[in-house]
Amino acid sequence: MRVYNFSAGPATMPLEVLERAQSELTDWRGSGMSVMEMSHRSKEFVSIAAQAEARMRSLLAVPEEYAVLFLQGGATGQFAGVPLNLAAPGAPAAYVNTGSWSAKAIDEASKYVDVRVIADEKESNYATVPAEDSLEVPGDTAYLHLTLNETIGGVEFPYIPDTGAVPLVTDASSTILSRPLDVSKFGVIYAGAQKNLGPSGLVVVIVRRDLLGRARPEVPAALDWTAMAKADSMLNTPPTLAWYLVGLVLEWVEEHGGLSAMAERNRAKSELLYGAIDASDFYSNPVQPAARSWMNVPFLVPDPALEKPFVAAAQEAGLSGLAGHRSVGGMRASIYNAMPIEGVQALVDFMTDFEQENG
Ligand SMILES: *Cc1c(COP(=O)(O)O)cnc(C)c1O
Repeated sequence: MRVYNFSAGPATMPLEVLERAQSELTDWRGSGMSVMEMSHRSKEFVSIAAQAEARMRSLLAVPEEYAVLFLQGGATGQFAGVPLNLAAPGAPAAYVNTGSWSAKAIDEASKYVDVRVIADEKESNYATVPAEDSLEVPGDTAYLHLTLNETIGGVEFPYIPDTGAVPLVTDASSTILSRPLDVSKFGVIYAGAQKNLGPSGLVVVIVRRDLLGRARPEVPAALDWTAMAKADSMLNTPPTLAWYLVGLVLEWVEEHGGLSAMAERNRAKSELLYGAIDASDFYSNPVQPAARSWMNVPFLVPDPALEKPFVAAAQEAGLSGLAGHRSVGGMRASIYNAMPIEGVQALVDFMTDFEQENG
């Protein structure tokens, strides 16, 4: 029996996608072989790759002047890829710190550029994002980096800042495709696949083409956006199976009404869960309402000693992956596109019962 999987990543996938992959596993559409056995240069795989890119472009309405790359090394690889592709050694680069993933991006970038943290939400204990009118982007920085959705803290930007001539770069790993996004406001968007796009092993990089050609000579080939764009992301062997599965997920999103329909579903799911938390004196969520994530919902019980019993009883009830990140504890429900509202309702019902027994 399948459980409702609230894991932050790798995360739940649409059942229809898994079943489709299963039906095609040993013989992909009459080719006589599995996708994982195909040459990445074969016309079959080249068409799988091109269709996935076309679907990503159409779903996100990616303008023509952007390249869409399918790379390896995860979002973590791009923490280095961003400075190596966009800035000279030691050049200034602006960062916003809204929590754990911003902090990791900052640490990694500090090896390559002069990081200027222009806003840090430490004072709020990372419970919000900076006010839109408070962001001042120095004109001499190579780019401004921010994390659209903090997967651990459950904090999401409700606005996209205007950075003028300075390219805006974002880690969208845990929010991409959860709602429409105006790609034209960004220089670069990158997202690891294992949250909302498919299985792990792939990172999507959407980069405005005028930003290509700025990489420093020592950039590793696997992180070189310019070389990868020229080679259709096949400078070396790509993770072919992951790429194919992401393509199936994109098709599923399309069949379910695209990003406006995803946004409606996700808004309803998050309102149901935050509503239940706010209505109870037992559960709490520390994030300021305007900056609450639609995708990752951390919550606490009044006594930390109840956390382990909560997670264990939830698991028994078919609700998996609810332990908070090991760095912060508590609980966290990740409710990505593939989580149906029935799963969120089952969680809310379980939370009500648990509160009655332990409150
Ligand atoms: C999961 C995640 C990462 C790390 O992704 P990897 O693919 O493991 O490198 C980075 N940033 C955010 C926002 C994430 O959610």
